[in-house]
Amino acid sequence: MERVYIGLGSNLAEPLEQLRGALNALAQIPQSQLVDVSSFYVSDPLGPPEQPRYVNAVAALDTTLTPLELLDALQAIELNQGRQRKAERWGPRTLDLDILLFGQRLLDEPRLKVPHYHMHARPFVLYPLAELAPELQLADGRRLSELLSACPCEGLERL
Ligand code: ATP
Ligand code: MG
Ligand code: MG
Repeated sequence: MERVYIGLGSNLAEPLEQLRGALNALAQIPQSQLVDVSSFYVSDPLGPPEQPRYVNAVAALDTTLTPLELLDALQAIELNQGRQRKAERWGPRTLDLDILLFGQRLLDEPRLKVPHYHMHARPFVLYPLAELAPELQLADGRRLSELLSACPCEGLERL
């Protein structure tokens, strides 16, 4: 079993319901157990500013799936909840499921970079993650507490 942290985000079509649906779906991924979920947060969008604010959370999942098998499962859930892939980067979406950390693995594959390449700069990832694992140290040696102290919680509200 490896412990995986997944970042959830939605800013379309009833974001709270999207996150609840996603958590139900995460709980049904084979060879896996959903073990913990953070509070929900509201955050300012990255990218194009004329879009609704996001609802975000982080979930902890224990799994024996491989990283790419888990990514496939997460992308199937995104599609099942109406995610459309558009040209615009960071545009609005019904559901985004990103693999933040996968055990102590460092992955640099075309489809999968772990730790998530931008998590260090995203308060809507770091603050909920710290609820679940305040003492976390990333596989590359960075401590979550250090990342947090360098990342102001601007534009983030806990629900
Ligand atoms: P960002 O990655 O900046 O949060 P995004 O989540 O909007 O942006 P997506 O459109 O959801 O980006 O995903 C684009 C591609 O990123 C996916 O097809 C996937 O293969 C790849 N990817 C690379 N690393 C990861 C990861 N750690 N978790 C999820 N997808 C990843
Ligand atoms: Mg994302
Ligand atoms: Mg994504």
